[in-house]
Amino acid sequence: MARYRGPVCRLCRREGAKLFLKGDRCLSPKCAIDKRNFAPGAHGKTRRSRVQGYGLQLREKQKAKRAYGLLERQFRLYFDRAERERAVTGTFLLQLLERRLDNAVYRLGLAPSRAAARLFVRHGHVEVNGKRVDIPSKIIDQGDVIRVCDKTRKKDFFKLVLERAEGRTVPEWLQREEDDMASGRVVTLPSGEDPQLKIRDQLIVELYSR
Ligand code: SF4
Repeated sequence: MARYRGPVCRLCRREGAKLFLKGDRCLSPKCAIDKRNFAPGAHGKTRRSRVQGYGLQLREKQKAKRAYGLLERQFRLYFDRAERERAVTGTFLLQLLERRLDNAVYRLGLAPSRAAARLFVRHGHVEVNGKRVDIPSKIIDQGDVIRVCDKTRKKDFFKLVLERAEGRTVPEWLQREEDDMASGRVVTLPSGEDPQLKIRDQLIVELYSR
């Protein structure tokens, strides 16, 4: 599946917000948003226009799309699906994005970032309900059990990931299995609200409804 391969800190700087695309670095003083919080490019520092209306809606959509590592077409498909549901479109859209398997793996602390989680799933390190799944976009359901396969647990790189994940909080809709850091359960469906990214879904709905 196609994906953005350029410098990711640039994306955060463009959106003027932390999108948490680089794992531990995002929480360190090396974060580009903390050091250079202005738009990238030659005129990023000097040209500061007040964004409103369409620009505001566009930026919010870009922020969500980039945080979850999606391209325009993939993001639009999620929106179309959310629009067909008998639910609040914006909330359902954010719920769908959160329910992606790669996102759940990241949220459980089994990978340092969503991009790493995507690769991790793609390379067959993850099982859902006892079956190996290598589709990062798989939508998980309430009650699903996500676990890292036995062979991967013995690998040094994964031990390091788990070490770093200790103390990382897991969102309420997920729960780490007791005495097993390398697996977790979907206890309920996500609400769609993310205190970290703070995406304003209404602006995305307004943008696509133009
Ligand atoms: Fe880079 Fe992470 Fe900071 Fe974004 S949040 S600028 S990806 S270090």
